[in-house]
Amino acid sequence: MPIKVQISEAPMGKSRASTPLIVALDGPAASGKGTLSRLISDQYDFAYLDTGTLYRGVAWLVLNDKRDPADHDYAAKVAQNYDLDKIAGANIRSRDVGAAASIVAANKDVRAALLDFQRRFAVSPPDGFKGAVLDGRDIGTVVCPDATVKFFVTASAKVRAHRRWLELAPERPDLEEASIYNDLLERDARDAARDDAPMARAEDAELLDTTHLSIDAAFAAARRVIDGVFRQCGP
Ligand code: C5P
Repeated sequence: MPIKVQISEAPMGKSRASTPLIVALDGPAASGKGTLSRLISDQYDFAYLDTGTLYRGVAWLVLNDKRDPADHDYAAKVAQNYDLDKIAGANIRSRDVGAAASIVAANKDVRAALLDFQRRFAVSPPDGFKGAVLDGRDIGTVVCPDATVKFFVTASAKVRAHRRWLELAPERPDLEEASIYNDLLERDARDAARDDAPMARAEDAELLDTTHLSIDAAFAAARRVIDGVFRQCGP
């Protein structure tokens, strides 16, 4: 991803919208929010930021330095000197990096170091996009409390574990679904219980439970909500 976190100015769009439209999606791992976010960004021609990659990148860099993700000062220093180019080509989607990401994400200095970049991306989307889609755990509550539309996307833990297993199995056929299930529960608990910006549904977020929904059906439901809001404020 050719975007550096250490930017002093907001990325300037070719024709920045004066009030950018922001779609915020939060929710637990493997709830479908990533796929939905991509579809929404394509549909409305918005820039997309998967904020989980920022935390995964910090975690990968810490692990790559053979350091403990729970080492507060070390993880904070990595986040403060973060450059996404440093993780180009790294396998940040692995199970170990996911677990370590949730540990570094509980570090308030790591979160503080990443916050400004996320906000700038949202209010001044790069490359002339007239809006932005951000997904994560705290977008509707902390990063963009004034987002135009907010969703909290969830699904049962069993369904989420199965989805994650389907995703990881081609590279890790030894992985058991039961252990992925346990990982997810542990990660959800840590993400929801931390003091700083815990995973939470914003009061004004639409709840989208994808347990029994195909991705097409979930996307259609999201579009109905977004179109309704956009009709009032107009992209
Ligand atoms: O979404 P993803 O599973 O890639 O996120 C990895 C981890 O990063 C999450 O488990 C969570 O701890 C952290 N995260 C966060 N806030 C965000 C996005 C991700 O704390 N906005």
